[in-house]
Amino acid sequence: MIAYIERFVHGNDVESMPELDSTEEDGAGLLPLFKGLELQGTVDFDTAAGGKDFGGLQSSKPLAMIRPASVDDVARVIKLASRSSHLTVAAQGNRHSINGQAMAHQGLAIDMKTLEPRIQVDPSGAHVDVSGGALWEEVLKRCVSDHGLAPRSWTDYLDLTVGGTLSNAGVSGQAFRYGPQTENVTELEVVTGNGDVFVCSPKQNSELFFSVLGGLGQFGIITRARILLQPSPDMVRWIRLVYSEFSDFTADAEFLVSGGANDSFDYVEGFTFVNSEDPVNGWPSAQLHPDHPFDRTHVPPTDGPVLYCLELALHYSNHHRRSAVDKRVERMAGALRYCRGSRVEAEVSYVEFLLRVKRAEEEAKANGMWDGPHAWLNLFVSKAHIAHFDAVVFKNILKHGIGGPMLLYPLLRSKWDSRKSVVLPTEGEIFYLVALLRFSFPYPKGLLSVDEMISQNQEIVEICKRKGFDFKLYLPYYGDNKEAWRQHFGNQWTRFQQRKAIFDPRAILAPGLKIFSRNWQPPS
Ligand code: FAD
Repeated sequence: MIAYIERFVHGNDVESMPELDSTEEDGAGLLPLFKGLELQGTVDFDTAAGGKDFGGLQSSKPLAMIRPASVDDVARVIKLASRSSHLTVAAQGNRHSINGQAMAHQGLAIDMKTLEPRIQVDPSGAHVDVSGGALWEEVLKRCVSDHGLAPRSWTDYLDLTVGGTLSNAGVSGQAFRYGPQTENVTELEVVTGNGDVFVCSPKQNSELFFSVLGGLGQFGIITRARILLQPSPDMVRWIRLVYSEFSDFTADAEFLVSGGANDSFDYVEGFTFVNSEDPVNGWPSAQLHPDHPFDRTHVPPTDGPVLYCLELALHYSNHHRRSAVDKRVERMAGALRYCRGSRVEAEVSYVEFLLRVKRAEEEAKANGMWDGPHAWLNLFVSKAHIAHFDAVVFKNILKHGIGGPMLLYPLLRSKWDSRKSVVLPTEGEIFYLVALLRFSFPYPKGLLSVDEMISQNQEIVEICKRKGFDFKLYLPYYGDNKEAWRQHFGNQWTRFQQRKAIFDPRAILAPGLKIFSRNWQPPS
């Protein structure tokens, strides 16, 4: 580890410019310094947008918003910050964080979306080089429409940047097979907190590569990612199966993701919903198409307060006969224990399937729900405790719903490389993603105010702790509670700190997470 520290720290050639004094650090007062940087991109001192995020729970204005044109711009901005005693730098993707993770209070925000070059598909078709600020939707459209190729692992929603999801994990229904998005990257270009630019991969500057993936932006800014590609299918058979018993739902979901069958679906997710006619939280939330409403008579009258839905997809090409696809679906779904008659299916193009949340976004925007605050909570819960979690949280605390989706599906630890920085529950091969995607809107009864939602999230986390559940927050945030961060990382905390000391010793990067405090070391 020491050898690494020396190599990376000595590689830091912070220019011999004078140290910044604090009086210069007041927005427009920084202008002459930016002029000296000779950026190819632009600097904006109207920073209101840079102080907000999708969560809408926090706001904190940066001093300046930099729109870089190149990796050199990013490096120069970080070097500028390193000359001050307290300037920080936040890479901002699409600011779809919930708790201010991409904010830089009184610091410098870098809008990664302007970075070039954006998307270059390798002539071999094996991979694509993508700017850290490219949206996944751009990647999808470009790769599929121009080349008939696609990345293997996605998020449900694609208006997120490549650098933003790779800093966390990037999880969706393909992760059981290919791992999260962080497992589908073979090379990165990164600017460290020292302002140095490195290309890294599992073989070259590997410590930096593994640190940055899932590293919450703490070790470097991803300016380019090399993402694996495969031939894209044309069509998707999209299927939903409803369960009244939690044990049947989890047994089938685990069977499918563990490769229990010879043939398997290409996408496996699931969610829980309220067993009522409530239009937002109840049966209508499980229907695939408004023309095919959920038929309550298919679930037994003895069922509980919540039901479960397995969401599956099978890829196929235009040249496949429909009857052959029907047969495959029948063979794979026939043995599952869902409530007979509850199965609904739709045929959509591959691109339409991957853009399915965009449709929901358009509807939510139209009725004003998209732009309100979002007190979301994401957890990874070990299989050992998921039934208990269901009993205490879904069937009890959340039995009336949350005003949005409650995702619940299994993932496999063996698909996650432990050298990367993502933190998982400690035991067992299977763990569950639990995503409480709350929307707040003027809905008459049963729903909570935003403050009550936040308290309910805290209550759920406290219950998990009290009951000794093996769980971790996904997309974590603990305010400035340093002890909570230490507990979050558990036995990985020492490694995380060491990596910080190597790659961002002044704690310049990603200040919005408040894991480390900015410290002052004069440029060497
Ligand atoms: P930002 O919010 O802008 O940034 C997030 C963090 O990453 C910040 O700390 C920031 O400083 C850092 N960062 C940003 N860009 C870079 C970079 N280039 N290099 C280094 N650090 C960087 N997640 C899933 O896994 N699966 C899902 O299906 C999923 N669906 C979502 C749907 C919606 C509607 C929303 C709002 C979020 C969803 N997320 C999902 C969560 C999402 O992956 C994270 O919030 C992600 O960080 C947001 O990406 P962003 O580009 O907006 O990043």
